Amino acid sequence: MDIRSRVDSAESYFRFLNTVRYRLWSDIYIEYVGGSLTLPESAVLVHPMWRDQLISETPCRRQRSFQNPPPAYESCAASTIWGYACPSATSLQTDHRFPWALGGPTSPGNAVYLCRDHNQMKGHDVHLIAWTVDNFAWLHDEVEEVRRLLRL
Ligand SMILES: [Zn+2]
Repeated sequence: MDIRSRVDSAESYFRFLNTVRYRLWSDIYIEYVGGSLTLPESAVLVHPMWRDQLISETPCRRQRSFQNPPPAYESCAASTIWGYACPSATSLQTDHRFPWALGGPTSPGNAVYLCRDHNQMKGHDVHLIAWTVDNFAWLHDEVEEVRRLLRL
């Protein structure tokens, strides 16, 4: 997946996010189940804004920190994001591939191991992540979790 298509996917995510704020989650969910949403568009269904409607019912926000340290055999995954190998030998940190701030879960399927510098560079930016089914294998379970929270 080249950088241009990654950026285009991120833009379609933000474009869709911008159009859904006055719509019902359930209407978007119907489109998702019907298969008419692209992958970037589908990720809007787990955006924290839907959970924030329930803030009085769920005072504890979702767990943010990964509990386990990165495995010793891992190395900085900069190449999967920026396309070049990272020479850093510093200790790795576990980050959310799809940002926690946008609804990405704290689960192994959404974990990416980065050195401290690349972790800071990544931040919440989704313009360089690969919007592939592999990277979003967690999405369906998270969408269903939001549906359960919304009691739909
Ligand atoms: Zn690095």
